[in-house]
Amino acid sequence: MTPDMERTSTLVIAFTITVTAIGLPRQVMAQAGHDFTWSVHDMNRPQPEVVDPKGHSGAPSDAHVLFDGSDLNAWHSSGKDARWIIENGEMIVAGGGGDLRTRDSFGDCQLHLEWMIPEDREVHGQHGGNSGVFLMDRYEVQILQSHGNTTYADGMASSIYGQYPPQVNACRPPGNWNIYDIVFRRPIFTSQGSLLEPAYITVFLNGVLVQENVKILGGGTHGRRASYSAHPDRLPVRIQDHGDPIHFRNIWIRGLGPRQKAE
Ligand code: MG
Repeated sequence: MTPDMERTSTLVIAFTITVTAIGLPRQVMAQAGHDFTWSVHDMNRPQPEVVDPKGHSGAPSDAHVLFDGSDLNAWHSSGKDARWIIENGEMIVAGGGGDLRTRDSFGDCQLHLEWMIPEDREVHGQHGGNSGVFLMDRYEVQILQSHGNTTYADGMASSIYGQYPPQVNACRPPGNWNIYDIVFRRPIFTSQGSLLEPAYITVFLNGVLVQENVKILGGGTHGRRASYSAHPDRLPVRIQDHGDPIHFRNIWIRGLGPRQKAE
């Protein structure tokens, strides 16, 4: 082989390697991201169900309403009727009334919830304006007055308690409503009880993305690393009585079908 031939053959090999390296992942990604059962713009592809979104914060037509301002029938407190206060279409934590759990159970879901801390409430760190919403009774999105009130970052409003601070602090001042829109994918366990797939959660606070599909490390408790223990596919949503008079309104939930995946 002449030096020229050698150079040409080296270039050909380098070119082939480069094309393979760039081309292959693209091909693999295309196959992983698309459902090839249907051609592009296929009119035979099933139409999504029609849902009436019903305005800005009202429950859409396919939602399961958990609180619409009238009663606490969707909730219980340790098996007894919920004993929180209802005033002006809002439900208010009655200190000592205990945590509320939904009577129904949920797995993968979209949850909407609005909360507010009274304007005159004195707060300091974790004290004075604290509650929390627990998906599946154990994965907590923290509720805390976090406007102008500093605490540990993984314990502020819209943190995944003890795990992830929010990307930004989008909390409104006391006396204003804060809005959570949460997308939750439950964990999956083997029949032997070991973790097959962790839970994932996305949270918007007041329309601002604060948690983007973060991998939940397990059920949270104060001051300890979270860990998983096997549980049923559906469990109640829980709202915490931390002794502070947090107000809630417009709570609704939609069960989610499976994620769209390549076939
Ligand atoms: Mg809390």
